[in-house]
Amino acid sequence: MSQTSIGATPPAVPSSGASSLLVDGDRNCVKCSYNIRGLPIAGKCPECGTDVAMSLKGVLLQYASPEYLATIRSGLGLVLNGILLYIVYFLLSIVIGLVVGATAGGLPRGFMLLLAVLGTAVQGMILFGYWKYTQPDPGFIGREMPDTARKIVRIAVIIQGAAAVIALPAQLGANFGGAGGLAAAIGVLIMIVGFVSFAAWIMGFFGIMRYTDWMARRIPDQFVIARVKLYIWLLPVIAVVGLVVFGLGPLIALVMYWNLLDRMRKHLKAIHVSGQPAELPRRLA
Ligand SMILES: [Zn+2]
Repeated sequence: MSQTSIGATPPAVPSSGASSLLVDGDRNCVKCSYNIRGLPIAGKCPECGTDVAMSLKGVLLQYASPEYLATIRSGLGLVLNGILLYIVYFLLSIVIGLVVGATAGGLPRGFMLLLAVLGTAVQGMILFGYWKYTQPDPGFIGREMPDTARKIVRIAVIIQGAAAVIALPAQLGANFGGAGGLAAAIGVLIMIVGFVSFAAWIMGFFGIMRYTDWMARRIPDQFVIARVKLYIWLLPVIAVVGLVVFGLGPLIALVMYWNLLDRMRKHLKAIHVSGQPAELPRRLA
């Protein structure tokens, strides 16, 4: 299997009117991944009936299959809306925390459980979004460069999902209280799961940035490519330094990250509507 990067020239494709020409070189059907090597360019994919010519237009996202683009777009939508919901949830939790701190008895236990479940649901929405966003393109199966970045993101998603599944009942158990030994064991478990999840989250961040760099090349949007290069080190710095100095670092980094992904979503929306990427100013809104 030959590895072709996006920078490499795709096999030469003659323009229309060449009904007897055959596809030379390994190419995948954009819809079903079937290898269309040797098929007539004017013909159809024997597996799914998509025009062979559809699969020869090149690497730009505007030529990818509509089904694939819809998956990527809805994935980004889940991530972006999930992040907004999470910020609201986070601020709400702080307010509730202050209220609980001020009242002697604290809030009803059922309410705390509901909060924990809501937080996990929003997290699940974001993770599912990342999973869809990193869906492999059937037109590039087996010969695409971002496979490593994609797999890193997906492994991170699985680890965080598993951690959430373990942590939620543990949190609920801790909330219900219990014998001293058991409560301590649950506390340790929550800490370990939290640490593993955090490590996976960091790994996922770098994976997403590498993957978004690849996707931006398929728009193509030089601005996003440049921003990814900058953000991959700047956002962690802002998050860490900002946390120590002002306390708002992670939120600022998150907003910058959100804007970057939102720009990708705008392109995908524009491709869906007009077949062309969005014409966006160089500055992020
Ligand atoms: Zn096909």
